Amino acid sequence: MKISTIGLALALLAAPIAAQQPTIEARYRADADRIIDAALRDSAAWKRLAKLTDTFGNRLSGTKALEDAIDWVLAEMKRDGLENVRGEPVKVPHWVRGQESLELVSPRRAKLQLLGLGGSVATPAKGITAPVMVVSSFDELTARAAEAKGKIVLFDVPFTTYGATVRYRAGGASAAAKVGALAALVRSVTPQSMRTPHTGSLRYDSTVTTRIPSAAVTIEDAMMIRRMIERGDRVVVTLRMGARTLPDAPSRNVVAELRGAEKPDEVVVLGGHIDSWDVGQGAMDDGGGVVGAWEALRIIKELGLRPKRTIRVVGWTNEENGLAGGNAYRDAHRAELDAHVLAIESDGGLFKPRGVGFAGSDSARAIVRQVARLLERIEAGGVAASGGGADIGPITSLGVPAMSPDVDGSRYFWYHHTDADTMDKLDPREVALCVATMAVVAYVVADLPEPLPRAAAATSAR
Ligand SMILES: [Zn+2]
Repeated sequence: MKISTIGLALALLAAPIAAQQPTIEARYRADADRIIDAALRDSAAWKRLAKLTDTFGNRLSGTKALEDAIDWVLAEMKRDGLENVRGEPVKVPHWVRGQESLELVSPRRAKLQLLGLGGSVATPAKGITAPVMVVSSFDELTARAAEAKGKIVLFDVPFTTYGATVRYRAGGASAAAKVGALAALVRSVTPQSMRTPHTGSLRYDSTVTTRIPSAAVTIEDAMMIRRMIERGDRVVVTLRMGARTLPDAPSRNVVAELRGAEKPDEVVVLGGHIDSWDVGQGAMDDGGGVVGAWEALRIIKELGLRPKRTIRVVGWTNEENGLAGGNAYRDAHRAELDAHVLAIESDGGLFKPRGVGFAGSDSARAIVRQVARLLERIEAGGVAASGGGADIGPITSLGVPAMSPDVDGSRYFWYHHTDADTMDKLDPREVALCVATMAVVAYVVADLPEPLPRAAAATSAR
């Protein structure tokens, strides 16, 4: 009896260390529950985001509103007692919308709703008056190229996925210019409309020498113009746009940290983009990403938790029309990217989270699955097949594992890049659930005994 007990004790001592360590779930359950309770205790994150968006409004790169918002966030982060709070300088594009209008001239006169696309050139002051040619795809434009000369081409392409449909917003102007059109209109990239146009950036193809103005119209107006043309009406519109591109302007990436207790040079970075389009308030896209990450860090700090590694919150600047902030972050932190354990970006709106999306090695994914179990109590324990974001793209493409909250995005594109992207679209409880999700994942990954394993090839993480 006695001998076999000793034998068992010896066997336990000899067992591999790993087998004796508690699971991630057991080790972090108490901390995760405290974080979740703190995030759900009140509406602090929603209120802070409302203060930001109500006070400064929309925040396009190059505007005073953006820089004032950055100043305010930095001051508030310092008041919260966060560490190494700073603005890291970035030069950003400075596009200005100016006055713009779209008028239906024939078969009747009417004012149509529009938003010029970011980066577009202007029309002449008197506008461009021309017949409209409507197409459903790039292929149709190519097939009917001979008809496009001297026309305004309308890309009337119904929303399928953002990725598939946004190609027309980004590339419509150059495709139309290539076949001799004078301007390009694009049906707003959204599945749902209350006659609201959606802006966004366009990209002029460097191989097409002519740059023509381009604007988004509403689903309703695009469908009406198509019906008129299909009935045989000659549709003529006058497009006026006063857009200008000014010299690049100074801006900043917002940075705040909680330094790691044991491995401060290893970093979990999380955040969103502080800039927005020049319409609405940029509440959903993407004030929420910045404030959600910021509140996650504040809660970790206020609970007295200090992980082994550093957690760094970043509000990247100029996501919308340049990605200068994400690129500048990569360049400024290039020497420490090997020590970036994880990059988390929230840019899908702070809607009800189902879990996280992750892109990284299989072995890292297995660990993330265990971490996500800590979120099952708020129904956010899922790990979706892909994750990441535009601002962290420059560093995740160099091998940093990528993550984003996986939220119910069913309403996101209804308001995306419109005047309707305002606070009321976000629910305080859903915002708090996103804060809890980001805080738990960031804290646990920053505190794990070992860093998340990278993919074998450094460039294959995304
Ligand atoms: Zn965004």
